[in-house]
Amino acid sequence: VDNYLREQQLFRFRRLVAPHEGEPGSREELSRMRKTIAERMAWREGQREEARAAGRTPRNAVPGPTGEGGGMSAASKIIRTRAESRRKLASALDQIRELVHYDELTGAFNRRSLVARLEQELSRSQRTHVPFCVAMLDLDNFKEVNDRYGHGKGDAVLRGFAAAAQAAMRKTDVFGRYGGEEFAVIVRGARLTDAVTLGNQIREAVQSKKLVKKSTGDILGTITISVGAAEFGPAESPASLIQRADACLYAAKNAGRNCVMSMLPGSQSGSAAA
Ligand code: GH3
Ligand code: MG
Ligand code: MG
Repeated sequence: VDNYLREQQLFRFRRLVAPHEGEPGSREELSRMRKTIAERMAWREGQREEARAAGRTPRNAVPGPTGEGGGMSAASKIIRTRAESRRKLASALDQIRELVHYDELTGAFNRRSLVARLEQELSRSQRTHVPFCVAMLDLDNFKEVNDRYGHGKGDAVLRGFAAAAQAAMRKTDVFGRYGGEEFAVIVRGARLTDAVTLGNQIREAVQSKKLVKKSTGDILGTITISVGAAEFGPAESPASLIQRADACLYAAKNAGRNCVMSMLPGSQSGSAAA
């Protein structure tokens, strides 16, 4: 990275984070950057030529903000600018790494990570015969929250739900956003009854929180969730396990919402466990 001009670093970075056509400003920005790089490369080559002509060893000179090289203050400015751009680049990369694994809104694992962790857990369980379950959690009548109080409030509810759910589970449980207002927990080392207990704990924790209008403190209502839980059966695929948990969630919705339904490995129908 050190041998690149600051503009080159930025150019590479912009291409990395904004590679899509039609993204505002990106084309203009990239072509401006390209021009600056070309100018500065020419300047740097000129400096090298001069150095060679004067019998000095050419260095990797980088122009200061005014385009003039050399001198202590310009050199320290360059070092500072480089350090700053490295710091910015590092923090942007941290952010990107974060987004690869986590859901931006709730901080829970995203679907991709969740499925990867599920596959890991499945192989582990097949190797060690330690049981585990999957619980699918879905907010009840959430569309109504958005419709009544707006999308912003809906987002706040999703964040609040994720925090309450995470507080109710063990550190070893893996919690992620499966999509929209549907979440999943991989309940590690657990039999179905433990997963149902956890589902109910989360359900009660969520229900006990009041939905409050921030500006006035008025209580708007409560949020409830429905849960479907299934225990991993030997030789089952991740898709089949999720599908069984989802079928239980569907049964919980049909049973009137705000409840937990569960399914043992190999069985077909949901059983009430609210
Ligand atoms: P049910 O009890 O059957 O689950 O009803 P529901 O209204 O929760 O389900 P439905 O699938 O009809 O609506 C889900 C709503 O969730 C619609 C969608 O706009 C909203 N939603 C999904 N993702 C987000 C999000 O990130 N933010 C907000 N605010 N709303 C979201
Ligand atoms: Mg819902
Ligand atoms: Mg849903």
